[in-house]
Amino acid sequence: MSLWSRRRFFLTSLAGTAAAGTPSLLRASTPEDGSDADVFVPQSAPAKGKRPVMISSANGVHALQKGMDILKSGGDTLDAAVAAVTVVEDDPNDDSVGYGGLPNEEGEVELDASVMHGPTRRAGSVASVRRIKNVARLAKTVMERTNHTMIVGDGARRFAVAEGFEEMNLLTEHSRKIWLAWKASSSFNWRPGIDSPEWVSRSAAARKEDYAQHEVFQERLAMICDHDPALMARAMEVILDPPTGTINCLAVNDKGEISGTTTTSGLSWKISGRVGDSPIIGAGLYVDGDVGGAGSTGKGEENIKISGGHTIVEMMRKGMSPNDACLEALHRVARNYNNDKKKLGTFHVYFYALNKDGVHGSASLWRNGYDPNKRAKYAVHDGTEGKLVECAAYFDEIGGDQ
Ligand code: ASP
Repeated sequence: MSLWSRRRFFLTSLAGTAAAGTPSLLRASTPEDGSDADVFVPQSAPAKGKRPVMISSANGVHALQKGMDILKSGGDTLDAAVAAVTVVEDDPNDDSVGYGGLPNEEGEVELDASVMHGPTRRAGSVASVRRIKNVARLAKTVMERTNHTMIVGDGARRFAVAEGFEEMNLLTEHSRKIWLAWKASSSFNWRPGIDSPEWVSRSAAARKEDYAQHEVFQERLAMICDHDPALMARAMEVILDPPTGTINCLAVNDKGEISGTTTTSGLSWKISGRVGDSPIIGAGLYVDGDVGGAGSTGKGEENIKISGGHTIVEMMRKGMSPNDACLEALHRVARNYNNDKKKLGTFHVYFYALNKDGVHGSASLWRNGYDPNKRAKYAVHDGTEGKLVECAAYFDEIGGDQ
């Protein structure tokens, strides 16, 4: 299906679904080259949201209950969002966030996080933080206890220690072994990316074949992973496709107050000091108490270039539904590559949005998520239980560098 007919399908068919809230807006024309005509026509009638409600990336589905308990007992929306993501930061089995996150190329776990508090219209963020596990809470501490908005690197670690956070080694054995296996392969960070004219395409299948043929590497991989087939398979997976992974969480209470947070260990094997979109206010997270909030997971470099969080909130301010606003942000990501699916297929991007009425939505660049066999989903807790809901898809294909 062409991009335009796909978009027309979404923008005209979402009316009335739980995710399509305020009137959606249809782009009147989309030139072939992917450039923007920016003419919108309202499509759907407003839908009603439900409050309190929390949403997050799919990896937060079991953690949302913790935040919902806080909302139900009259607690603050940011406390609720931070409590939920803290569960994921503490989980050594989630290798994309907090403790147990996959490290940078030097084997150091470096974390990024941001928070925004709608009721008091404040923000805080931290980036490239080592040895501190709960960086969403640290970002909140920056917001509450300093005259600053963002603190990075060793300064952020020292600030955390001064504020009573515990220092610890964040690298689990699981992540250390996978990192060693990656070191035994090679790095692609030190060459031009997909937005460079010098980018050279090589499919994941072809790269997999190279590794399969490479006996010395296979022996080394087996040794590092203690011949554990599951660990070897996971190591190969993340070597071929260095994972991103993050949790974004947005919470609105029964009064319509809204806050959000995004926390991550960022792109695995990154160059030390690389910062993604998660701690960037306006990219990985944006909340305006008058409108709603939005956040993102996936390749942060692509989101930063379109200021996704802010873009989505501004679209919602103009009356667009959360779902359509997420799709619109993805349109801008795709436009940056003139809809070249070969380049776009090298990454995933998801957007999540919640307005202050409790209407929510999410869209993924590709129909299926990090697992190529499963539909992209996000987590929703509307007061009864946390559940996974399908994201709208910008492209109908499975996507990713298959
Ligand atoms: N957006 C994060 C980053 O680029 C990673 C992710 O969401 O997976 O650092």
